[in-house]
Amino acid sequence: FKTPAVENEPMRSYAPGSEERRGLEAALKQLEQELPFEVPCFVNGKPIKTGKLAKQPIPDSHARHLCVYHEADTATVSAAIDGALAAKNEWEALPWSDRAAIFLKAADLVSGKYRYRLIAATMLGQGKNAWQAEIDAAAELSDFLRFGVKYVEELYQQQPVKNSKGAWNRVEYRPLEGFVLAVSPFNFTAIGGNLVGAPALVGNVVLWKPSPMATYANYLTYQILVEAGIPPGVVQFIPGPPPEVVQQCISHREFAALHFTGSTHVFRTLWKNIAANLDNYRGYPRIVGETGGKNFHVVHESAELTNAVMQTVRGAFEYQGQKCSALSRLYVSSSLWASGFKDKLLQEVAKIKVGPVTDFSAFMGPVIGKPAFDRIVGYIQKAKEAGGEILIGGGADDSTGYFVQPTVILSKDPGSITFVEEIFGPVLSVYVFDDKDFDATLDLVDSTSIYGLTGSIFASDRSTLLRAANRLRNAAGNVYYNEKCTGAVVGQQPFGGARASGTNDKAGSMSIFYRFVSARSIKENF
Ligand code: GLU
Repeated sequence: FKTPAVENEPMRSYAPGSEERRGLEAALKQLEQELPFEVPCFVNGKPIKTGKLAKQPIPDSHARHLCVYHEADTATVSAAIDGALAAKNEWEALPWSDRAAIFLKAADLVSGKYRYRLIAATMLGQGKNAWQAEIDAAAELSDFLRFGVKYVEELYQQQPVKNSKGAWNRVEYRPLEGFVLAVSPFNFTAIGGNLVGAPALVGNVVLWKPSPMATYANYLTYQILVEAGIPPGVVQFIPGPPPEVVQQCISHREFAALHFTGSTHVFRTLWKNIAANLDNYRGYPRIVGETGGKNFHVVHESAELTNAVMQTVRGAFEYQGQKCSALSRLYVSSSLWASGFKDKLLQEVAKIKVGPVTDFSAFMGPVIGKPAFDRIVGYIQKAKEAGGEILIGGGADDSTGYFVQPTVILSKDPGSITFVEEIFGPVLSVYVFDDKDFDATLDLVDSTSIYGLTGSIFASDRSTLLRAANRLRNAAGNVYYNEKCTGAVVGQQPFGGARASGTNDKAGSMSIFYRFVSARSIKENF
């Protein structure tokens, strides 16, 4: 058999008065009436209420919360590990067509029956506007599930090319021995689906620790996997455990892999803890992670001005700059800057409306929470102290929700703090370079940050694009020509970066699945 052909999920536009707008508004209303939800842990398909309660606040109105969840404790995690290991043999032995069918069904539930509810949960809980939530919780999540099936099918077909006389050589792609721990971030509901889905699809059992700030949307995703037929124990949902309970997972002898997206600091800490525990494991755990970025646009004097400005605005300010891929440092040619780039940029940023996610005219919503708000405001302050000039924005208000104005800072010092450290918020640092210094600027872009996630080059002549791309070859795992540095699409731009940004295993492509299989070569003589 062959699994059905896959396509990227078409995006909906939610035009005023449209049926889809009405559908989404109804889902939002329903969610607002029903909240706060109570979210237990799920072990072996059964809810566990630990009684250790924590809240997921609503970022644009922090007096309310979307859910109260039960934090996983030591006993829950022990049961989750035992249950996962007990479920493993049967899951692994299930024919590939059945695992594929479960994932294809889950994708259809995401893009169909639960689309608006998932979007509404992502809007309220993670502070995304409708279109950003559509890209994430509807399109990207279902794409990850559907394209995963296509990629795994292709992976299983990777076979030796030669057989000697009388022998048949073949390779089985077996799941890892032990269990996988998936630690997922707040900023994309879809990423949670992929961190769990990719290892599970190739036959692994997975413990899922979602971000406390995305608990509810991830819980809906878990429920969708259950409705699609994932057997009890294969995915164990363990929200919000404290660090010592996470440590309990990675200290376990059967710990086989970490699949992580989140902060650089947490990833490095987990990696060190895994290394410290190496002698206790049965094998060498696989460590797959995507962390931060300090993503750039470089705009050459030959660039098309309007496009470069519009892409810059979107790259820096969509979802309040909280994509790992978000643009945070802009290097622009002085002649272009003076001949309209600056004016157009400021005009466009001035048009941005910041507001609650249920206001469909707001381009930007809140940042995710109080620590994020304080950190971002702190960076704006530090930029000022370092001599940066705030060209627009700089304001912030957390009286009802965590709102930060889109902020553009011009600085003469390209080594100052906001060019170097990840801010993860709507703050764009700008450095204007002399046109004759384009090559020196490329060196600067490359050497300023420890990260290597995304970057864009804007130029109208191909030789300049190639020169820049070559000089910046290690500075970004995803590079774009004349387009913003965000918005990688599953199946189109495999996503991930190197340097401090991660292991560059490329979500949304076949590569990621290789990390969660352990191949067995078989030679059989006839
Ligand atoms: N894949 C997303 C993009 O290209 C970013 C994912 C992330 O924030 O980790 O914009």
